[in-house]
Amino acid sequence: MEIPKHVPLPTTELAGFDADLSEEELAAQDAAHRFARDVMRPMGRALDRLPAEQAYLPGSPFWDFQAEIVKMGFGPDGLIGMQPAQAARFEGLIVQELAWGDAGLATSAGAGGMPLLMAKMSGDKELIDLCEGKLGCWCATQPDRGSDGLTLYADERFPGSTGNKGNLQARFVGDEIILNGQSSAWVSNGAVAQVALVDIVADYGDGFWDADGNTFGCNVIIPLDINGVSKGKPLEKLGKRPLPQGEIYFDNVRVPRRFAIATRDDYEFKHAQTWAHAGTNLNHLAAGLARAGFELALAYTNERKQGGALLSDLQLTQFRLGGIGMKVEAIKAMARHVAMYTKCAALPHPYFTAAGKSFCNTEMLSVMRECMTLFGGNGLTREYPIEKLLRDAQAQQIEDGENNLLQMHYGFLLSRLHRETTFGHA
Ligand SMILES: Cc1cc2nc3c(=O)[nH]c(=O)nc-3n(C[C@H](O)[C@H](O)[C@H](O)COP(=O)(O)OP(=O)(O)OC[C@H]3O[C@@H](n4cnc5c(N)ncnc54)[C@H](O)[C@@H]3O)c2cc1C
Repeated sequence: MEIPKHVPLPTTELAGFDADLSEEELAAQDAAHRFARDVMRPMGRALDRLPAEQAYLPGSPFWDFQAEIVKMGFGPDGLIGMQPAQAARFEGLIVQELAWGDAGLATSAGAGGMPLLMAKMSGDKELIDLCEGKLGCWCATQPDRGSDGLTLYADERFPGSTGNKGNLQARFVGDEIILNGQSSAWVSNGAVAQVALVDIVADYGDGFWDADGNTFGCNVIIPLDINGVSKGKPLEKLGKRPLPQGEIYFDNVRVPRRFAIATRDDYEFKHAQTWAHAGTNLNHLAAGLARAGFELALAYTNERKQGGALLSDLQLTQFRLGGIGMKVEAIKAMARHVAMYTKCAALPHPYFTAAGKSFCNTEMLSVMRECMTLFGGNGLTREYPIEKLLRDAQAQQIEDGENNLLQMHYGFLLSRLHRETTFGHA
């Protein structure tokens, strides 16, 4: 290479300071980016402005998106057959781009594929057929069981308390599972989903709790067009408005026992592994959102003049852009690191995934607030898309577990590791 006289600008890629992407990865990233830019952004902005009761009616852009994403082949099948490290990289690249396009629609796509993914992992043809071609949801939280569902160990609970059985339970009776109760209003796709992966407390004939006060659980695939299932109205909410959310009610809903994917003895382990793997997507979503906000702020500060110059020519703005840009790269790196560990480790753990979720999303919110502040008063108006991104960013602080609470679980895990393994004794 010829040595230039002056220091040239560095080489960068679509998502920033990446230099290790293969041709195949760059091509997949580019395809996802074009889809995010040309299809998801316009649809997401249109859906954001519609009242929830109109946004997901037949004929709305929401259903056009569902049809388009299937054609693009970004479903769970895309990663099958890949080595773990390769799958971690591909998944991260694609999810980040989709979130860059619209975080609500990206979440809808991820949640929509959960029942099918779990059915495929079980290898059960009947369950796969029940889920194939249908929009899915993951139905776990309930009005009185939010963060409680994310506690894995008895000694994390408040002294004297037992596990929370919530407002929706399954009873295993003979060859049947009978469900009664309701989900929270937050189930992603809940208001319109056609099939659910239900992740709830269960009674196998001897009550809901074991001797230590832990609840028994189950994962069951439930088609949502059967007797006893009804749905609430789509939730009217602040952020991620293109993502339909809403309650699902179960009134003596009966399915055969073979619809269960995890039961009394393998539930805890399978639940933890599913959370560890599926949860990494929230970290890539944070990376995509952070990049989207950063790019808007970069463009705006290169157009807006104040103080006699373009904002971006003023040193205070350069300092602030530098701070935002550093965090964006840190979020991307953390998201990739957690995904890589989770896909490659012999025994990953959801509390490490939760640490990634907490870090990436907390930093992403601080990025978004600073980006919005760089827009001055304009940032507050609906004319500029940054206000939507801030609302979407806020929704992710709670989704899949509130960040402080997840950080607390990670701290618990670190102490446990130190006490019971060689961790931290180097
Ligand atoms: C965009 C979005 C998408 C979602 N998608 C789904 C989905 O697909 N499926 C689904 O089932 N659910 C979904 N949820 C629900 C989500 O998982 C819950 O909202 C979340 O787990 C928090 O539960 P909660 O809202 O009941 O809050 P709570 O658990 O009531 O928490 C309220 C506050 O109390 C704090 N707190 C809670 N417990 C403790 C404690 N032990 N010690 C100290 N502080 C505590 C929390 O940190 C929080 O700040 C979604 C939520 C959002 C926002």
